[in-house]
Amino acid sequence: MTTHSFEFFPPKTEAGKQTLWDAIRRVEPLAPDFVSVTYGAGGSSRDRTVEITKRIATETTLRPVAHLTAVGHSVAELRHIIGQYADAGVRDVLVLRGDPPGDPRGAWTPHPQGLTYAYELVELVRSLGEFTVGVAAFPERHPRSADWESDIEHFVAKCRAGADYAITQMFFDVEDYLRLRDRVAAAGCDTPIIPEIMPATDVRQIRRFAQLSNAAFPEDLAHRLEAARDSPGVGHAIGVAHATAMAERLLAEGAPGLHYITLNRSTAALEIHRAVQSSRSLHVS
Ligand code: FAD
Repeated sequence: MTTHSFEFFPPKTEAGKQTLWDAIRRVEPLAPDFVSVTYGAGGSSRDRTVEITKRIATETTLRPVAHLTAVGHSVAELRHIIGQYADAGVRDVLVLRGDPPGDPRGAWTPHPQGLTYAYELVELVRSLGEFTVGVAAFPERHPRSADWESDIEHFVAKCRAGADYAITQMFFDVEDYLRLRDRVAAAGCDTPIIPEIMPATDVRQIRRFAQLSNAAFPEDLAHRLEAARDSPGVGHAIGVAHATAMAERLLAEGAPGLHYITLNRSTAALEIHRAVQSSRSLHVS
C-alpha cells in the first residue's frame, strides 16, 4: 500500500485563502493519507499555518500534518505550538530545522533558548505525547552538508531520534532519490522516505524554487518549457507528463508513497495523481 498526500502553504491574502480552500476541497474526495501545511519564516504567516492546520482538522475529513521549524523559537514557544496542535486534535508534525530568515543560505543562528538541529525538535515533539513525526530528506544532499557521509549520518540520527517517515526535498531525477534510499539503507536505517513531486509547469517559477531548494533542474525539460513559454497550456501538459513519468517510476521502484506540492492550486497535482492511479489500476487488472 502506498500513500498519497498533498502539500499546501499559508496564503497572505483573502483571495489566496479562497484559492487554498478551493484546492483543499478538491483534494478532499480523493481521501489522501494526509495533507500538510508549510511553516513560514516568521510572524503572521506562522499564525496562519496554525490556524489553517487546526481548521483542516476540525472542518474537513482530512488528516493534517503541521510543518514546524525551530527558526526563531525558544523551546517554551515550541512547546506552546505543539500543545495548541494537540488541543485541536492535530497529532502529526513534520519536523524541520528551517533556514535563516531573509537569506536561506546565511549563517544559522539558533534562538538563545532554542534548538540547533531538527533531531532535537524530533525529541521534543516525541517527549510531549503521542505524535506521528516526519522529517526532511535530501536526494541531492542537504546544501549545508560537507559530504555524503556526514549527511547520511545526521539523517539517520534524526530518524533514530523518533521519525516515523521522511519526505524529500523536490528533485527532478529519480536516480537521485534511489541513490539516497540506497545510502540510507546501507547505513542500517529503514525509515520510509516519501518522494516529493513538484509539477514543473512554469519554467521561471520552477527555476526559482529549484535554486532555493538546491535541486538540479534538467536542461532538456527547461528547454521544452522555455519553448512553450507563450503557451501555458502546453507548458502545463509538459510539466504534468514529466512529473507523472517520475511518479510512476518511483512507485515501480518501491517508493512508499507520493507527496504532491500543490502551490495551493491542486490542478496539476490532481492530474498527476489521477494519471498515476489509472496506470496502476491498468497494471493491476
Ligand atoms: P537538519 O536535519 O537539522 O539538518 C540541517 C543540516 O545540519 C544538515 O546539513 C545536516 O546534515 C546537519 N546536521 C544535522 N544534525 C547535525 C549534528 N548533530 N551535527 C552537525 N551537523 C548536523 N522550511 C521551512 O521553513 N518551513 C517548512 O514548512 C518547510 N518544509 C519542508 C518540507 C520538506 C519535505 C523539506 C524537504 C524541507 C522543508 N523545509 C521547510 C526546508 C528545511 O527547513 C530546510 O531544508 C533546512 O535547511 C533543513 O532542515 P532539516 O530539518 O533537514 O535540518
